[in-house]
Amino acid sequence: MALDPPTMLTISIALAAAAALYLAIEWRTVRESSLLYWSAGFATITVGCTLALLRGNGHLLIGIWFANGLLVTAHWFFLLGVARFTETRLSRAWYLIFVVWLAMLLLPEGPQWSKLMFLANSLLVALPTLRASFLLRPHGMSLSVGAVQLRFVLLAHGLFYLIKMVPPLVPGSLIDLAAFRGEIIQVSLVEGAMAIMLIALSMTGTERYRREQQIARLAARDPLTALYNRRALEVRAPRLINAVSAARPGALLLIDIDNFKLVNDLYGHTAGDRLLVALSEMIRALLPPSALAARLGGDEFVILLGHASPERVHQLGSSLRDQFQQLAAQSYATPAAVTLSIGANLFDRPPASLAALIEQGDQALYESKRAGRNRIRLDDRTLAAPAAD
Ligand code: GH3
Ligand code: MG
Repeated sequence: MALDPPTMLTISIALAAAAALYLAIEWRTVRESSLLYWSAGFATITVGCTLALLRGNGHLLIGIWFANGLLVTAHWFFLLGVARFTETRLSRAWYLIFVVWLAMLLLPEGPQWSKLMFLANSLLVALPTLRASFLLRPHGMSLSVGAVQLRFVLLAHGLFYLIKMVPPLVPGSLIDLAAFRGEIIQVSLVEGAMAIMLIALSMTGTERYRREQQIARLAARDPLTALYNRRALEVRAPRLINAVSAARPGALLLIDIDNFKLVNDLYGHTAGDRLLVALSEMIRALLPPSALAARLGGDEFVILLGHASPERVHQLGSSLRDQFQQLAAQSYATPAAVTLSIGANLFDRPPASLAALIEQGDQALYESKRAGRNRIRLDDRTLAAPAAD
């Protein structure tokens, strides 16, 4: 089958309709409005390309001016979708695109009509497309792989439309919109079909990738304190605990609030929650950059240090205990002090597992509770540890 313009347009209609449908279905599961804008964009291309077929029957106004205007509208929808995706506010000046489209009706008929129409149309497609690509540049917000793909596909598509403006400016070049004649029109039709596929593919990825990232982030965090939860710690700890050596021992600190139930019982669960959040903020503030912290559940927290010493563990433990005791005493009067008990262990060989390490920390914590609470008990398991009596 020859790739004549009507065939290319028919392929584009099919591709755009499939993309519109696919993005609408994607929206039904992901529920992000950007997908609806993009779906609307492809639906508009479907209608535009169908109407463009009419120019063969002599319907020039609908087949050229209106159909091309729909192509511009589609790219405007793409821009709106990207603005939603990147949470950017678009200037109202972008509505001027439609004023220019209407003004194109005033173009004088004559031999230059096709070229002027082609130039204006190319510019009106290039501008929103390049703006959309620019909105997707990295800027603080982390962009998903899909969004980066979309950024470059839109950039290539927008630049193509800018470059398309050069041939009509060359004297003697042929652009006949009515008969679809001229090489640049042929090339445009091929690029159009390719662009539909590439843009639609990258659009479907964007929201899904981002949703997956959000879900992964949420699944890794304790909802109250936003510290890592046990599962996330299990994923991240091996790298840290397997890297320890005699020169760089690791440490685990298991922290449990003393008499925490008193705060819950006397001041309510919300007060207890506030204290848990305050403790997590103290941990976060004192945590060295390479260390890991997590809430294991209830009033139990864990800190993993990759480069520790007995002094460092005692120093960190004391700072936490002092700060926490002060805050708890100031905020809640209780019959018994609300303080921190810490069980720690220092190790210079990778432990069998994180669970085994926590188990050792638990023993040290139990001993610090048994010894009267509000203290730190360090179990030094390194080879350099002073021999126990
Ligand atoms: P101990 O000195 O022996 O550690 O006793 P404790 O009073 O601190 O109580 P324990 O550590 O045995 O139990 C923790 C309590 O923390 C039990 C539960 O009521 C409470 N708790 C668990 N999760 C939450 C939470 O998310 N919010 C609040 N406010 N309380 C919680
Ligand atoms: Mg407790």
